[in-house]
Amino acid sequence: MAFGKTASCLILAATLASAAQFAVRHEHLRQGCAGVMTVDENGVRFTGAKKHAWSWKYEDIQQLRLSPESIYILTYKDSKLRLGKDREYNFTGKIPAEELYPLLKDRMDQRFVAAVGQASGAVSFSLPVKHLRPIVGSEGTLAFGADAIVYSTPAKAESRTWRYSDIENIGSSGPFQLTITTLEKGFTFQLKQPITEARYNQLWLQIEKKNGRIQ
Ligand SMILES: [Zn+2]
Repeated sequence: MAFGKTASCLILAATLASAAQFAVRHEHLRQGCAGVMTVDENGVRFTGAKKHAWSWKYEDIQQLRLSPESIYILTYKDSKLRLGKDREYNFTGKIPAEELYPLLKDRMDQRFVAAVGQASGAVSFSLPVKHLRPIVGSEGTLAFGADAIVYSTPAKAESRTWRYSDIENIGSSGPFQLTITTLEKGFTFQLKQPITEARYNQLWLQIEKKNGRIQ
């Protein structure tokens, strides 16, 4: 009996977690408009002021970047205002990123950029790092788990959670450097502790296997 009760609670929780609705602000060049965002099995919807209401299916989203402070959506539609560049949308607010991450990771491929530093599952090892960027870099920790690599940093929207399938390849020019390349971009890390050759090779192998490039 006890088992049956637990199972039905789990099913209920899973049903509840298949959609999320929350308040966000759509950022304009000047000010913005308040509205409601819905994320469910059909896609992402925003209902704001006047004509500011859109509905995107997952396949129509070129990139969705989720962070605890913002959601960025890049579509495939050309923008006349931006001289033919793809149309993009910025939403800000208190985003329920922890709740949205599992919803989106099961529905989106590499076009989902998880700017969250959420560790999932057991971590096999971690390294203190600096993410090198053109102007100001960020510092944090790279944690290597069974299903994902997580870069956690206090810097706003700079954290990332990569499923192994999100990683196109990794590279290293030595024990104190690691590059992780994804569909979004290449991330170069300066390592504050060396990565051993054995660990690097194991990581490379794991990524190749997860991506089906080797057996
Ligand atoms: Zn608006």
